[in-house]
Amino acid sequence: MDHTKLANLLFPNSKKTPEEYEALYPARDLPAGAKVTRLGPSPTGFIHLGNLYGALADERLAHRSGGVCFLRIEDTDEKREVEGAVPALLSALHYFGIDFDEGASFSGEVGDYGPYYQSRRGEIYQCFVKHLISEGKAYPCFMSEEEIEEIRSLQERDKLNPGIYGPYARHRDLSFEDVVERLGDGQEFVVRFRSEGSPEKYFTVTDAIRGEMSMPENQQDVVILKKSGLPTYHFAHVVDDHLMRTTHVVRGEEWISSLPIHVQLFDALGWDYPIFCHNTVLMKIDEETGQKRKLSKRKDPELSLEYYQKEGYFPEAVREYLMTILNSDYEEWRLADPEAPLDAFDFTADKMSNSGTLFDLNKLNDVSKDVLARKTAEEILAFMLRWAGEYQPSLAGLMADNSDKLLKIFDIDRGGPKPRKDLINGRQIFAFISYFFDEHFMIRDDFPSECSPGDIKEILRRYLASYDEADDNETWFGKIRQITADLGYAVKPKDYKKNPEQYKGHVGHVSNVIRIAITGRSSSPDLWTIQQIMGAQTVRRRIAEAHGLFD
Ligand code: GLU
Repeated sequence: MDHTKLANLLFPNSKKTPEEYEALYPARDLPAGAKVTRLGPSPTGFIHLGNLYGALADERLAHRSGGVCFLRIEDTDEKREVEGAVPALLSALHYFGIDFDEGASFSGEVGDYGPYYQSRRGEIYQCFVKHLISEGKAYPCFMSEEEIEEIRSLQERDKLNPGIYGPYARHRDLSFEDVVERLGDGQEFVVRFRSEGSPEKYFTVTDAIRGEMSMPENQQDVVILKKSGLPTYHFAHVVDDHLMRTTHVVRGEEWISSLPIHVQLFDALGWDYPIFCHNTVLMKIDEETGQKRKLSKRKDPELSLEYYQKEGYFPEAVREYLMTILNSDYEEWRLADPEAPLDAFDFTADKMSNSGTLFDLNKLNDVSKDVLARKTAEEILAFMLRWAGEYQPSLAGLMADNSDKLLKIFDIDRGGPKPRKDLINGRQIFAFISYFFDEHFMIRDDFPSECSPGDIKEILRRYLASYDEADDNETWFGKIRQITADLGYAVKPKDYKKNPEQYKGHVGHVSNVIRIAITGRSSSPDLWTIQQIMGAQTVRRRIAEAHGLFD
């Protein structure tokens, strides 16, 4: 069989040679050791945490080394494409501080190694498919779905490995005339790779995360070009990552099982492998079963990146948390230097986790509290205004009208050596401070059971009578102590704990009556400061209203 003749018959319009493409996309001119990475999402419209997790690794590996990180859109699966998916992906990743140097962008494609949309690379794939056919390493296969199905049941019956290989690859050696005839009949074909691999033989590759991996060779004649003329993932990955001069392929561990195919294709085309970095899937502890399981689109809203934007997580907090689960020595580094910018960390692939990474929202919240504790009140306010503007329009006006007040609120216990760590995300922050606004105020917590309704009423009456906004913190608290003692409560909690029968309760209970009347909650930052920000009028009104509840 004249393979070149077959190749020309099948791809008459593919004129460029592999050498021409090699020359068109030359080795990149980068400093030694610079890494070239890429994110290759399918434009399905659903942007998930795994995308960000991978993108962060890509971005860090490239930028720590003076390299390039590009965005390639893997849109060869027409069924899954959703309009607007690319800008949505770009803006979601941008929100989290990930910007690409090259590839798909808001203003079209940027860079010399494109097209960066796989659907626009048809000619390139066909050139290399044609090349493989001309070398006898690939062939057209006209088998119908029914025929493949029939082979599958045969194999099942005889307990054989399923798939198209060896004797089941029935169209491996069709004659030229047969192919001409089938084409004449209008039969459609896929192109399959002619595998010389044997499952008895093993090969090894070194994965930058997992170390040396030894696997059986691929035996299947996999499809490399679909009927549509577009490539399968396997072929597109090999051609693109070679021509785009990717040095490090960071991708999910679900691709490990097809690595034997990829390695075989790189070999057949005479190309070096990139360095593979197979990362892990994100897992969580299932609330019901207590078992580790994959995050699921259906069950876990936190899988979607939009969740973090809507909840109002600071991008920095999410990045910071993802770094702690991406690189095993990140936390230690952070403890040693709480102020250092994240980018100063020496991110390496070998410290990436290689088995089911646990994603824990509570842990993210803790990290977020630490990150926010290092922010200024101005930074928190600016973020809250932006977040509300975008996701909580009903609060945006209220917050903008009260920005002076909010600055004071966010400034409570901030800046000292031990700043408060109680702010997590926009939604929680607003809920946390909502009592400052009458329209969001309500009594949420129960008054302390140590105080009888009669006492509560009396505490509030006396407090209202003695309240003077001009009192400093000490004088103000002196008055509360006075009420405490007069009503038979212990001024020192420890006295009450020692002799509980001698007192009704202690000063903490009495102050909590006042705190709940003013803030609706039994815990809050310093109450004196809160009252100063709130203003005497509101304080008096709330005390009077709470008093009224006990009439
Ligand atoms: N399009 C593939 C995916 O979304 C990309 C895998 C890769 O990074 O090679 O899973």
